[in-house]
Amino acid sequence: MFSTAIAGSLPKPAWLAETEKLWPQWTTQGPELQQAKADATLLWIKVQEDAGLDVVGDGEQARQHFVHGFVEQVEGIDFANKVTMGIRNNRYDAQVPQVIAPLRLKGRVHAFEAQLARAHTKKKLKFTLPGPMTIVDTVADRFYGDKVKMAMAFAELLNQEALALQADGVDIIQFDEPAFNVYMDEAADWGVKALERAAQGLTCTTAVHICYGYGIEANNKWKETLGQEWRQYEKVFPALAKSSIQQVSLECMHSHVPMEMMQLLEGKDVMVGVIDVANPAIETPEEIAETIGRALQFVPKNRLIACTNCGLAPMSRAVAEAKLKALAEGAKLASQRYA
Ligand code: ZN
Repeated sequence: MFSTAIAGSLPKPAWLAETEKLWPQWTTQGPELQQAKADATLLWIKVQEDAGLDVVGDGEQARQHFVHGFVEQVEGIDFANKVTMGIRNNRYDAQVPQVIAPLRLKGRVHAFEAQLARAHTKKKLKFTLPGPMTIVDTVADRFYGDKVKMAMAFAELLNQEALALQADGVDIIQFDEPAFNVYMDEAADWGVKALERAAQGLTCTTAVHICYGYGIEANNKWKETLGQEWRQYEKVFPALAKSSIQQVSLECMHSHVPMEMMQLLEGKDVMVGVIDVANPAIETPEEIAETIGRALQFVPKNRLIACTNCGLAPMSRAVAEAKLKALAEGAKLASQRYA
């Protein structure tokens, strides 16, 4: 009854990149690197299928980081000279590329891994792209001088790639917008509009993922400052409910998000995060089923998809594999219990 999917990223094997890092360096280069990316993509499709997940993805094995993987293929960006910039409202410093000229795609961005994944699975295939607002928050602007204008420029490019991914046979295109939880007013004001521009004309399923970030130290410390009730979703969910985006992925397991936030997403499929990505402890099926049970107070049965809170990229491979299995087992138990 409850289908299962992951938010997006999975750990990179040691023969592809540095392990347990959010911005890992590749282990190899040239044709060998391309082969390693392909091998890792196929490996994770197999692991997701074996775990019993209903929707699978490429695990973002072919990109260094979920934002930079896209930005690298954009003309008008100086990727060689990165600068240090506080991102997510100065939560942490990152090395970011600079926008120095009008933006244009150099060509296809993710054709290689999307087509490879499509050729090797019959399951529903989800593909993730960064959302326009989150990209704007992860590059240094030396050209546009206007956040909204730059977001719309990125949205157009994202749309080009999204339409091409759809033509590659991708079933679900998901935009990742962690920035929506940081700039709540702006997200409701123009973030959702930019997102809809990125999804314009898509006939496949469209989704957005909004989380409290990867399980890295800076994020864990930030979460400690958010108090007992995390109400960041309260502003953006009503705007999303009115939008054309069909699925919303949110953080739930072990978070302080009040469950009733989910009722603000009326009419949307809700990907409920039932796997914690900040804690290596493996969730029990019982714990997952119980979380799904609580979410069912606010989400109709036929709209609930069991998912991870966020990507699993910075975790160890063994932990990620165990968490994928737990996700499938927990959703199965919930299906038996609440059918
Ligand atoms: Zn996330």
